[in-house]
Amino acid sequence: MTPPVMGSWTEWYLRTERSAGTVLVFAPHPDDEVIACGGTIARLAAEGARVRIVFATDGAMSHSAVLGIHRDPAPAELRLIRRGEARAAAKELGLPEDAVHFLDFPDTALAGHLAAFRARVLDVLRVHPGVSEVYLPHEVRELNADHRLTGETVLACLAELDLTPLIHRYVVWDERTEQEFAFVNRNPPAAGAGVAERLVTVDITEQLPRKQAAFRAHRTQVELYAPGQTRPVVPEPFQQRVFTTPVEEFWITEPAAVRLEVE
Ligand SMILES: [Zn+2]
Repeated sequence: MTPPVMGSWTEWYLRTERSAGTVLVFAPHPDDEVIACGGTIARLAAEGARVRIVFATDGAMSHSAVLGIHRDPAPAELRLIRRGEARAAAKELGLPEDAVHFLDFPDTALAGHLAAFRARVLDVLRVHPGVSEVYLPHEVRELNADHRLTGETVLACLAELDLTPLIHRYVVWDERTEQEFAFVNRNPPAAGAGVAERLVTVDITEQLPRKQAAFRAHRTQVELYAPGQTRPVVPEPFQQRVFTTPVEEFWITEPAAVRLEVE
């Protein structure tokens, strides 16, 4: 994450009245929802918002792709284990059982299933026409292919359906993340990007214990889970940041009229 920037834009964001309606969080893999916006999800849930988390991929390749561990657990086993972890994490954030939705596309390979993914995202959005806020991976700043494609696809689907929720773009996979994981899975950047945007910093001090518990629920990612595993899938320095950082950051775009007002 980049250092927190507090300024007029953040103040505007925090002042803005937002109804506690339906909030959709799109996560490329189980655990991204906690890393990027676990504190925010906990706060929204406590305020009475109807938060739903949509996982794009099954997360089955974490051990195989990042650590070179292909059995115990094998990808097919991990897929099921990580579903359970995602449900447990959502519960820690204060969400009901039915708040998580698994689209189940293959981890690390979303690029090969874009048409089907797009169709499933449209299905999800059609069920929530009154969605007021959406959280998704930044379609340009994210380097990881599954992340970037999740962001690109959700944005395209929102536009197609003429839905205009307040969009929060988050960044999990920047260059530091790639270095710490020692794992790179990129795709070419989206063409034509370059919207005006501002970074807002949200204080999650009160929600940090819930975020920590939710992150711990993703046991396969934060523990030495497999026999012979010598490092966790999520590297220790990265974990420490998630466990201790009392803010979450989002890139926000707003109509020009609002930008003028706060500048
Ligand atoms: Zn991810």
